[in-house]
Amino acid sequence: MNVTETFVSLQGEGKHQGKPCFFLRLSGCNLRCAWCDTTYAFEKGTERSIEDIIKEISESKVRYVCITGGEPLLQKNELLPLLTILSAAEIAVDIETNGTIGFTDVQPSASVCMDVKCPSSGEMSDLSLLNDLTENDSVKFVIGDEADYIYMVHVLASYKNLRAEIFVTPVYGTDTKWLVETIIKEHLPVRFQIQLHKLEGIQ
Ligand code: SF4
Repeated sequence: MNVTETFVSLQGEGKHQGKPCFFLRLSGCNLRCAWCDTTYAFEKGTERSIEDIIKEISESKVRYVCITGGEPLLQKNELLPLLTILSAAEIAVDIETNGTIGFTDVQPSASVCMDVKCPSSGEMSDLSLLNDLTENDSVKFVIGDEADYIYMVHVLASYKNLRAEIFVTPVYGTDTKWLVETIIKEHLPVRFQIQLHKLEGIQ
């Protein structure tokens, strides 16, 4: 498995925001989002065995793992046996994905956090994958401007039966006040979040 980095910190977003978490960042991405903050994951990382990664997770004593990237599902073949072992050890796993690769085969042993790419990212997710999300999963919209907000409203209107929890996060440094006021005014069924890991002292 090709790995960019591993570290323990607090989960910065999603359902488990604020929880101690073992992060496994896999290398490589099939997108190039305009505001990507992990471009260093595009490069080839270090080849590591599943046994080696399991040993490190076990030694960390953290019982919650977030597998991120890059796009971690690009390494799905290697990921599946790792997930089976973590699931057997009753370690909770989130997989963060950009919504371009099918994920039903990882859902039995992990929660999927699908990032829906909005126009300001310059990229696009495969929206049909929203149909595969369950109550155990979540969706994230990162909003950079009004066009992104309008896109999100359109997506939510088109996928009314979405079972996953919906999170909305402003692109770091953009107008948070406007976004909060608009969500409240329009009664959107979403949870607003600021990315905790942008705060000083949290990686
Ligand atoms: S999908 Fe994620 S890692 Fe890939 S370019 Fe977009 S923000 Fe960066």
